[in-house]
Amino acid sequence: MRNNILAGNWKMNCDLPMTQELISNIKKQLPEQLDCEVMIAPSHPFLYAAFNDSLDTPIEVIAQNVSQHENGAFTGEVSIDMLQSVGIKTVILGHSERRDVFLETDKDLAQKTKAAIDKGMRVVFCCGEHLDQRNTGNHFKTVTDQIEKALFDLSSKEWKQIVVAYEPVWAIGTGETASPDQAQEMHHHIRKFIADKYGDKTADKLSILYGGSVKPANAQEIFAQPDVDGGLVGGASLDADSFIAIAKAF
Ligand code: PEP
Repeated sequence: MRNNILAGNWKMNCDLPMTQELISNIKKQLPEQLDCEVMIAPSHPFLYAAFNDSLDTPIEVIAQNVSQHENGAFTGEVSIDMLQSVGIKTVILGHSERRDVFLETDKDLAQKTKAAIDKGMRVVFCCGEHLDQRNTGNHFKTVTDQIEKALFDLSSKEWKQIVVAYEPVWAIGTGETASPDQAQEMHHHIRKFIADKYGDKTADKLSILYGGSVKPANAQEIFAQPDVDGGLVGGASLDADSFIAIAKAF
């Protein structure tokens, strides 16, 4: 009904030789029969090399971010056309590090998402609450506000290009993971929120990934939840053995 997806977010790690070695090790161990789409997100300078290294494999190379601007005087930014010119078809947007460290707003993310969708890209849209928001019972509203503000101007057709990644910020890079029940509860809430606005068909087809300290030891239990359709993985995606073990957890 909907695709399982495992996406590795390599963040600002790995130079060119390390990027190519990691891809080579993942390729060597990738099982022939996979029950998920596999995506990796290396740093921008290495996307072209990574794309070429992954040709003729099921691995999709994706980007970690993109500008909402078409082109021009935006020093340091990378455009959608640039990504597409090196073979990239999918981009992660709204990661909590982009929101918290680089101060990307819901408005920025709405613009980036719309620009990427208009150019035919797929977007892995991240959302998630901070610990204080969970502790004060505001986690559901925080997440649905993020989704509503950035994505609710899209049409049902455009939602076909969206993957949602629920990433509780308190679980990212901390070793602390949401329990399978906590993940399922939020994923179900997100799906219902989208069903209420766009209908069951759109919501049922939407892949919702969980991110936050996913490892080989916890992946199977989390992915077994009915509304969890895979994972967005940071730390454990930088090791080929762990990444492959997680891919086999579906
Ligand atoms: C992430 O960066 O999206 C992430 C989930 O990181 P980690 O798996 O290291 O918690």
